[in-house]
Amino acid sequence: MITIKSPKEFAKMAKAGRCVAVMHAEIRAAAKPGVTTGELDDVARRVLAAHDCQASFLGYGFPPFQGAICASPNDVIVHGIPGDYHLEDGDIIAIDAGAIYDGYHGDAAFTMAVGEVPVEVTSLIDVTEEAMWLGISQVRHGARVGDIGAAVESVARPHGFGVVREYVGHGIGRHMHEEPQIPNYGVKGKGTKLRTGMAVCIEPMFNLGDAGTKVDADQWTVRTADGSLSAHWEHTVCITPDGVVVTTVPEDAAIPVSLG
Ligand code: MG
Repeated sequence: MITIKSPKEFAKMAKAGRCVAVMHAEIRAAAKPGVTTGELDDVARRVLAAHDCQASFLGYGFPPFQGAICASPNDVIVHGIPGDYHLEDGDIIAIDAGAIYDGYHGDAAFTMAVGEVPVEVTSLIDVTEEAMWLGISQVRHGARVGDIGAAVESVARPHGFGVVREYVGHGIGRHMHEEPQIPNYGVKGKGTKLRTGMAVCIEPMFNLGDAGTKVDADQWTVRTADGSLSAHWEHTVCITPDGVVVTTVPEDAAIPVSLG
């Protein structure tokens, strides 16, 4: 697990995070009916190049992931491969983007509606984002991983949303995925203790139906087992000596959310 020891290292995390924030903004603006997920991937690659960053996801894992972003429409929870899928009015789509700047990673996701969607679908998207922020508010020196999971889960429960258990948040730094794992469920006061110098990704995935998942034959695309819609939100959060900083928000929003 990484410990960010110097302001120089943190600055690299911040640069990677800023690139991810710009990827999000440009993809959000480009995601319209008729646009393909492959075209959204092209947008991401242009932003990465303009920021001297590489894609965290491209070539990752096995079979090597074929995309700079994950583009996960409708019942796809995470890890959708960008390609020739055309967005339609009434779709929702989750975009997960990762950037590497000089060896340090930023990783964040958002979900948006394409055109008009029913109110319960807007609620799924908004509540998943709310859960992410409540999870982020738990991050500080001395907090436990279970504090985050318990907070995230508590937001889903009153709405009856399925909380995905097989895919989780994670530490981040010189690698996209580091210890500890950060589930979206848990018991307050339990689990690994967070400390200054750690960076973590908080990433709830909520389903409109049950929590069950299945994976396509491509070995990447993760769908809801019951075909219901799914939303995913994520930010990278650093516990610095000066406070907790979300690195993957836009420049004018980059403020400490609590003191570490
Ligand atoms: Mg992640």
